[in-house]
Amino acid sequence: MTRSAALLGTLLLALAAPVAASAPIALVLHGGAGTLTPEALSPEKEAALRADLERALEAGHALLREGRPAREAVIAAVTVLEDSPHFNAGKGAVFTFDGGHELDAAVMEGHTRRAGAVAAVRRVRNPIRLAEAVMLHSPHVMLSGEGAEQFAASLGLALVEPDWFDTELRRQQWQKARSVSAAPRAAPGAERYFGTVGAVALDREGHLAAATSTGGMTNKRWGRIGDTPIIGAGTFADEACAVSATGWGEFFIRLNVAADICARVRYRGDRLVDAAEEVVLRRVPELGGDGGVIALDREGRMTMTFNTPGMYRAWVRPDGTRGTAIFRDP
Ligand code: ASP
Repeated sequence: MTRSAALLGTLLLALAAPVAASAPIALVLHGGAGTLTPEALSPEKEAALRADLERALEAGHALLREGRPAREAVIAAVTVLEDSPHFNAGKGAVFTFDGGHELDAAVMEGHTRRAGAVAAVRRVRNPIRLAEAVMLHSPHVMLSGEGAEQFAASLGLALVEPDWFDTELRRQQWQKARSVSAAPRAAPGAERYFGTVGAVALDREGHLAAATSTGGMTNKRWGRIGDTPIIGAGTFADEACAVSATGWGEFFIRLNVAADICARVRYRGDRLVDAAEEVVLRRVPELGGDGGVIALDREGRMTMTFNTPGMYRAWVRPDGTRGTAIFRDP
């Protein structure tokens, strides 16, 4: 390298550094949307849920503050929620009709459009880490079932016995669902339980990522795959928009919810919040579905939109203000 080229390089780096340091970072999480009422949530349970959301938020935000990529931040946050028994992802996943657990997860990086997903895995402790591995270490986007588990084993990812995911609360919910319907159902009826988890992040480079992980829906038929691992339905990110969804997955698949929100921003120039509201508050309920999304744009503008009584959520805005919420704002 010539001396002048080296000097130019140094100058460019010096110019770039302050921009990067002041570039906005932001993170939004959800822990599922559903039909729970404030009366049904004890103060102890609420405190435990909020504490886990805050731990997940900090795990992801610490990485963003260090200048790490949005992808790493969403994976870190979702991993904390998968390990918490309070959410329907990883430990604490809902039961299928035949008394097992089948987990779905996906991650997408906006600026590269790289994506990885896993469906119907039964023994992978952190499905979101396997989804990331599919994206980074395979030529594929989605792996399912035993093939996905073999891939996890080949990479040394943690495998557990299927009953590791059991919790008493989910067993009771499953038994209640079975008493109402003798057939497998992937429909919520009057009760759908909170718990799918997701994250969207903006990093210092201005890149976005989205990640979602779930046990699916209580009493679902084995082999049923929801919206969560389907890129565009429950999880999506592009250069300007990232979305993670939760809700009655069949409707989110049919409406391609996450990609539709980003397409409205991209092609119509809609504001993110308007796009999310049009899809979640109008199109999903019009077909008979319910649920919510978290979404983030390149400027760090965020929306947490849901048509259910509540959605567990947590956020850190570009100005550093943060919070958690469950029900609608009073
Ligand atoms: N969307 C998930 C599914 O249908 C469930 C949920 O978000 O509660 O599998």
